[in-house]
Amino acid sequence: MVAPTRSVSTALSTTLSERGMRALRQGAMRLQALVYPPRCLLCSSNRNLRDGMDACTGCLAEMPRMHHPCVSCAASLVNNAGSADLCGRCLSHPPPFARTRCLGPYEGGIAALITGLKYSGRLENARLLGQLVGHYMRAHPECRRLSLLPVPLHPARLRGRGFNQALEIGKWVARTAGIEMIKGLVRRQRNTPAQTGLSARGRRSNVANAFVCSRRPVATRIALLDDVMTTGSTVASLAATLRGAGCEHVEVWCCARASLHAQQRAANRIDKKRPDGREPPGLA
Ligand SMILES: [Zn+2]
Ligand SMILES: [Zn+2]
Repeated sequence: MVAPTRSVSTALSTTLSERGMRALRQGAMRLQALVYPPRCLLCSSNRNLRDGMDACTGCLAEMPRMHHPCVSCAASLVNNAGSADLCGRCLSHPPPFARTRCLGPYEGGIAALITGLKYSGRLENARLLGQLVGHYMRAHPECRRLSLLPVPLHPARLRGRGFNQALEIGKWVARTAGIEMIKGLVRRQRNTPAQTGLSARGRRSNVANAFVCSRRPVATRIALLDDVMTTGSTVASLAATLRGAGCEHVEVWCCARASLHAQQRAANRIDKKRPDGREPPGLA
């Protein structure tokens, strides 16, 4: 019998340890499900839950979907006169990212999960959002070649909120899609004011040069992850920084695509509900 080569035995031990970790994780999840039976995070029902998700099949079927988005920035092209795949803005000013993939518009169940996560600290919503994005990416084999980079928060904003919603969602995207997550590559060097209330031009200048790379990127194909994309000015600023540092391909993944008007309406609703002076929604 031929002894396994070093690379084969290394791969075998890696596989075994991964199997062990998976079995441990599944055991812990079964125990948790016995103590806290899972419920749909949107309607609280404990019936017809999708395997491994805190969401029922009915609520998942009602999740808003993108209809004819711009390939580059995911803005809706429904009212576009032509049949082009790009919106006028991307045609005239191509962004520094290659494309945008998005679960759906910022409304319905997706908006409820995001606002619950960001403004009520419901971290379980990040797991469901991350699983939904992860399953979406798994259906696109070319996504497996990408490394995931959640959009960083400035340390002062992180202290105020207690967590970075993009990072919390990203942990589950990486696990579900089976891709690597990049840590510590980029930091936010300016604590930019919340984007709410700013025009598209105001948002661009607000986040210009907001990011800096702490080292030369090892991964050259990167997917930026954010919870909501509004004008795309934040991810454009981050993508420009990464392209300048040598990344050959940067694309954007987001849970929801909002228009400026939809985002402002949501911000007003939350501000009315929360007269406690907490940070207003700062969508990008
Ligand atoms: Zn439900
Ligand atoms: Zn576009």
